[in-house]
Amino acid sequence: MVKNDNINQKVVTSTMEKCANCGGNLIFYPAKQGLKCENCGSIFDIQKSTDYNRHNIDEQSKDSTEYKNWVANNKIFKCKNCGSSVILNSLEISKRCPYCDTAFVMASDEIPTYSPDSIIPFSFDAEEASNRFIQNVKKKFYVSGKFKKKLPKNQIKGTYIPTFNFDAETNSDYNGVLTKTRTVHDHRNNTSRTVTETFPIAGNIKMSHKNISIETSSKISQENLNGILPYNYNGVVAYKDDYIRGYTVEHYQDALHTCEEIAKQVYRDQIKKGILARYPQADGVQYLNFTPTISNEKYQYQLVPLYKFQYKYKKKDYITYMNGQTGKIDNNLPKSIPKIVGTVILIILIIALPIILSLISD
Ligand SMILES: [Zn+2]
Ligand SMILES: [Zn+2]
Repeated sequence: MVKNDNINQKVVTSTMEKCANCGGNLIFYPAKQGLKCENCGSIFDIQKSTDYNRHNIDEQSKDSTEYKNWVANNKIFKCKNCGSSVILNSLEISKRCPYCDTAFVMASDEIPTYSPDSIIPFSFDAEEASNRFIQNVKKKFYVSGKFKKKLPKNQIKGTYIPTFNFDAETNSDYNGVLTKTRTVHDHRNNTSRTVTETFPIAGNIKMSHKNISIETSSKISQENLNGILPYNYNGVVAYKDDYIRGYTVEHYQDALHTCEEIAKQVYRDQIKKGILARYPQADGVQYLNFTPTISNEKYQYQLVPLYKFQYKYKKKDYITYMNGQTGKIDNNLPKSIPKIVGTVILIILIIALPIILSLISD
């Protein structure tokens, strides 16, 4: 058994398949961002690099060494039961679907067009994920109290989800009409009325859009992914097979261009926000026109870590996702209806109270 002091002394290369001390299987060990022997517990360092590729939209990486290694070391498996498409490393022993646990029989002949450029490694293991899930749920006010008392202890699975991550610059001329609503008080007959003023705007805005993460998974929707974003992109490293040992990787589903169109919608949303931020006095939009010119657009095929919690509560099925780097969970949890209704009533009362008081005082 090697003590933790020995980390960094041996660096594992992707070609080193087994533990140097006992020949056991090595799996990625998030706590040390290294590899751990399943048999003797030895830990080995992974040579980390932040030097990864960003491609122009029409460029693929098929000539690169990284691509050739990826295709040689990894095979695509398609699940006959649930239809998921999963990448398994040739070193992977348990060939089972991460979504429905069906055993994979045969690798598909499909050869991927893209190999991962970068990866955000898991920063904690499944056991830690389970603890964080419990801590997170307890802090959420709107979650059913009964559920909090009997939190599910179940098998959770860590999967790397495929994403296309885009960067771009945009330049947009814009014009539009914004509105501002204010209340005018008439002292003569003691009445109030609202007046909406309009004002025209025009200008130019240049923006830089970074790390627009679009899922290309067959199992996770963009909404699911948005629920656990953002990732901390300072943690992105160049892809290595070592980071996926012991974890499953879902194969990309949608074409790059489909994802690019979704990314363009995100640029548009950011531009709109950027324009409106220039006019803080406005509180509404009558119309706003702009057509961005996109330049310097780059993509990287990026794997991101995700834990999935699947459980039943009061006969209903729930799936809650957790960001495998930051621990953030989405809001798909058993909610307490009385708590939500109570909060809504409270908010309405707070808004209505001044009006009610003014009516009483009249
Ligand atoms: Zn070993
Ligand atoms: Zn399946």
